Amino acid sequence: MTNSSITNIEQLSDYLNSQKIDSELKAEIIGGIQRNSMALRLTQHVLKLINWRNILEDPIRKQFLPLHSEYLESHPQSRKDSLWERESQSQDGLIHRYPNKLLFLVSNSCPAYCSFCTRSYSVGPNTHSLKKYRLFSSNKSFQSRCDDLRKYLRNNIHVTDVLLSGGDIASIDPRFIDELLNDLSAVQSLRTIRLATRTLLFDPSLFLPDTPLFKIIIKHSQKLKKKNKELSIQSHFNHANEISPESKEASLALWHSGVIIRNQTVLLDGINSKDDLQKELIQNLLDSGIQPYYVYQMDMVDNTEHFRTSLSTAISISKSLTGAFPGFQLPRFIVDLPCGGGKRSVYEYDFHDKKYGIYGFKSPLLSGDKLYYYCDPLRYLSPCIQEKWKYIRCISEIYDLPSDNHDDMTISEVS
Ligand SMILES: *Cc1c(COP(=O)(O)O)cnc(C)c1O
Ligand code: SF4
Repeated sequence: MTNSSITNIEQLSDYLNSQKIDSELKAEIIGGIQRNSMALRLTQHVLKLINWRNILEDPIRKQFLPLHSEYLESHPQSRKDSLWERESQSQDGLIHRYPNKLLFLVSNSCPAYCSFCTRSYSVGPNTHSLKKYRLFSSNKSFQSRCDDLRKYLRNNIHVTDVLLSGGDIASIDPRFIDELLNDLSAVQSLRTIRLATRTLLFDPSLFLPDTPLFKIIIKHSQKLKKKNKELSIQSHFNHANEISPESKEASLALWHSGVIIRNQTVLLDGINSKDDLQKELIQNLLDSGIQPYYVYQMDMVDNTEHFRTSLSTAISISKSLTGAFPGFQLPRFIVDLPCGGGKRSVYEYDFHDKKYGIYGFKSPLLSGDKLYYYCDPLRYLSPCIQEKWKYIRCISEIYDLPSDNHDDMTISEVS
C-alpha cells in the first residue's frame, strides 16, 4: 500500500538486520517465505505491531512470516480451493452460493498477505510454492466488471445482500469504490451492502476521518440509511495485539458516524486458539466499536495445516465464551464446508467419526441430505490412524460408501 511496504526478501532482510534478528532465525523466516502460498507483502504498520524481541511467540509474526520449521504436511483431504469457489462462480469473480446473498471479488490483491488465506489459490502474485488461479482477468477493467455485476443484480432480484471482498477493498482506488457504491445504491432489490477489509489492521490511517475512503463510506452509509438500507464493514482481526490505537481510532470514528463494523476472526492454532485470547479479542473489539460476528474454523486449504485446530477446539472455546458477554456481543463459531457446502455452525454436524477425525455436515438449504466432510488435523489423531490416512484417497473408502455422493473432496484440484 504505502511505498514503504516490504515486498521482497532484500527489504525484509534489511529490516530483520535492523531488528537484530540472529542469522539462524533469519534463515528460518526466509525459508518460510519459500514455502508460503502467499507472496511477501507487509505494511510498516504491521511490522511495528510485531514484538521482535519475542518473535517465536508473536501472534502477528506467525500469521505473516511463518518459520520454515512451523510448516506441516497438508492433510490428504485439503485442497487449494477448499470451498470450491471456482465451481460456484456465476460469472468471473462473482460467487452466488446462497439464494439471496452474493459475494463479489473486487480485487486480487491486499495491502499485506496473510499466510493462512483461504483464497490463497487466487489472491496475490504467484509464489515459489503456488501458481495462482485468477477468478477474473486482470485485462478486464474494474468498471466493466461492475457493469456486469449491475446487470447480474438486475436479473437476480431476489439477491438482497452483496458482500464486496477479494482481495481487499482498500486495494481499489476509492473513486472506483464510490462509483460502485453509487451503482449498487440504485439497485432497488438490494437491502445491505458489506465491504470486507483487513486494512483496519494493515493500514488504519486509510480509514481515519477526512481520508477519501472514510468520506465515501460515510456518504453512502447515510444515503442508504435514508432508503432503509445499510452499508456496513466486515473487518478481520484475529488477536487483541492487532487492534492498535490507530485501528481503534479509525473504527470508533466509523462507529460514531453510524457505520456498523462486524468482525471476522480465523481460529489459528497457537495464535488465538485459547479461551482467554478470544475473550481479550472480543473485549478489544467491543471497546473499538466493532461487533464480533464470526470465528471461522480454519479451512482445509493446502499448505496451512499448522494453522488448523481440531473442530473440538473451536467448540470448546465457543462454550467458554457463552455467558461471558451479552449474547448479542458473542461471535458465532463457523465452519465453511469443503466442496461448497457453505457456512454452518461448528455445533451443527450430523456425523462424527472420532477415530479418523471426520465430521459430516448437511447443508439442507443448499443440498438436502448430502454430507460435506471436515477433517481434523492429523496431529490430533492416533499415530496408527495418521499412518492409515496416508493411503486414503477419498472418504468413501473408509466407510465403503458409493463414491458418487462422497468422493467430492478428491475431484477438485486447481489445474
Ligand atoms: C461467507 C459468504 C457470504 C456471506 O455469508 P454471511 O454468513 O451472510 O456472512 C456470501 N457468499 C459467499 C459465497 C460466502 O462464502
Ligand atoms: S486480507 Fe483476507 S484476502 Fe487478503 S491475504 Fe489476508 S485473508 Fe487473504
